[in-house]
Amino acid sequence: MNRDGSEMARAAELLRQARHVVVFSGAGVSAESGIATFRDAGGVWEEFPPERFATLGGLMKTAASDPPEFARFLLAVVEPIARAEPNAAHRAAAELERHVQVTVITQNIDALHTDAGSTVVHEVHGSLFDIVSLRGRFLRRLTREQMRELASGLREAMANRSGVTAVMGVLRPMLGLGIRGAHRPNVVLFGEGMAEPAWTLAQEAVRECDCMISVGTSGVVMPAAMLPMQAQAAGAALIEINPECSGDADHWLQGSADEQMPALVQHAFEAPGGSVS
Ligand code: NAD
Repeated sequence: MNRDGSEMARAAELLRQARHVVVFSGAGVSAESGIATFRDAGGVWEEFPPERFATLGGLMKTAASDPPEFARFLLAVVEPIARAEPNAAHRAAAELERHVQVTVITQNIDALHTDAGSTVVHEVHGSLFDIVSLRGRFLRRLTREQMRELASGLREAMANRSGVTAVMGVLRPMLGLGIRGAHRPNVVLFGEGMAEPAWTLAQEAVRECDCMISVGTSGVVMPAAMLPMQAQAAGAALIEINPECSGDADHWLQGSADEQMPALVQHAFEAPGGSVS
């Protein structure tokens, strides 16, 4: 479909003409930063079934009945995010701001768009770094360095087969005191409402934009998956970057986000004379 470069040329032309671009990202945008997607083969849900690990009730039950398994799950999620750095796709989204108004709407919880320099980022599924009370009141934002310390402390405690008390001590900055602790990361688990005010602001941006780049998302997680359709219904053009085609976009750039996203920005704004060569 896009092998001859014509899809790239047409997508770049749309981007060049746009006044407000929404970059809508999912787990695939961070894959090349070393954070696996959840649904692809070998993803987190294959090893850790969502019914035990993706709901608050399931997680609390697992933590109480099987603390080592709970710690193993946390390590599988926290460690790659703690160690990650933005890749070329995150940097290209930030770079786009030099040319046009950009709103990033991300389903990711890894804070990599912000680290790459994007200034307007709505994290609609929350952030692993934001610590909130169980009622959702914001308490503090952990740094990536603190997250790294937590991950290595957890790895060490597990390797030493430390007891539950020691493991909970390591997790204190994230979960508070004991498993009935008073706080948690502000990530949206299955069955929970979207993160606010990010979700409301995201919907506003979708209504206003004239071009959306949907990058690295399977489009199956509701209600976030409705955003590309809402953008199209409001008259925006939809460009999709993904190894797999959803069939919904005006232009599909097949491939990895870290290659296609910079290529798109470069074709739109940095090719000789501002045109696609
Ligand atoms: P998903 O796991 O459902 O789908 C990932 C998508 O990325 C797929 O369409 C896949 O084809 C595509 N993909 C894989 N490798 C890619 C690459 N290198 N470049 C571009 N695309 C690639 O992801 P989702 O739709 O974002 O939904 C999963 C939910 O799980 C998210 O909403 C998020 O809350 C959470 N999650 C977050 C992270 C993170 O923060 N990095 C990682 C995994 C899951």
